Amino acid sequence: MELIYLQKNNNKYISFFSCCILVKGFERSAIYDIQRENIEFVPNTLINFVEDIRGQKVSDVLEEYQLHETAKEYLSFLEKKEFIFYSSNEFFHDLPILSINEDISEVLFTTVILSQYIYGNIDLFVKNIRQLGVKRLHIHIDNNNCMEQILKILSSLEYSQISNLSLSIPYQKINKKVYENKRLTSIVIFNSPKKRVQQNNEVITDYITKDGTNLFLTQFRIYDIAISINAYNIANNYNLALYKTIFIDENGNIKHTFSAKNSYGNILEDFKEIKTNTVKKLSKLWNIKKDDITPCNVCEFRYCCTTTYLPEKGKTGYTVDCNYNPYTAEFN
Ligand code: SF4
Repeated sequence: MELIYLQKNNNKYISFFSCCILVKGFERSAIYDIQRENIEFVPNTLINFVEDIRGQKVSDVLEEYQLHETAKEYLSFLEKKEFIFYSSNEFFHDLPILSINEDISEVLFTTVILSQYIYGNIDLFVKNIRQLGVKRLHIHIDNNNCMEQILKILSSLEYSQISNLSLSIPYQKINKKVYENKRLTSIVIFNSPKKRVQQNNEVITDYITKDGTNLFLTQFRIYDIAISINAYNIANNYNLALYKTIFIDENGNIKHTFSAKNSYGNILEDFKEIKTNTVKKLSKLWNIKKDDITPCNVCEFRYCCTTTYLPEKGKTGYTVDCNYNPYTAEFN
């Protein structure tokens, strides 16, 4: 059946959809389907096969691989997953790596530990978050009775550019008004007596039995990936995990991540100081792409990984100590 279909397209050329990106890793490869926001793991030999048949006539490929069972399997897989198509045109352009300079936000992603100190200066905090242009904000509050605080913060953020808001709070009764906020996408409730996931309006509430101490530990998890044209473009130009991303601790210190030792400023400072000094210092690491870090440079996740390891400079270049090993495709 598959061969009949292929033979019907005998005179056509094999093309690979430009929205599907091939990423070769050391042990295995991946195809990012950025239209469906999906990742498919494939053997490295399949990537070699695609590179070989791409732009070739179906008749030539059938002749070259006529008795090759694996080649037939690969062709049928690529067709079934809609990674390839047949066309009278010999050539289609690859997806261009676009410039992302049109993004004018100083910072896009922010996680804040909302202490009593920051809450006491909430107007200044919100003013600076708005001026930074933050689009995605995660607020962590370690207070067993914080509904009033949350409602006040949600209302203060009403005129910000934030399009995606998430919370992590200890187990308590949730005020239903919280779920009415259009920007809120998810809540993690730690110290819960039992695990469950619940959806209210558009908000996913994840009840976990663990405490909140491990929520911000840097660790690669398969669901921490971003497959999209925007993420792919950023990953080609910058470090996708760190780019325009900050962590604000309970004292307002601005750092790269929860576990980072260095702080580069304070969110309750004058905005001009944050914009000129803090952002400039932070951005040095934003420019170190995963392509320039070992072992990320051989990892199939390097254009979608959002795990915030800070690259360390050694004698032979930048390295991270990741819990995923791309040389074996296993977790350590
Ligand atoms: S090796 Fe690098 S790219 Fe791969 S999962 Fe770890 S941090 Fe991400």
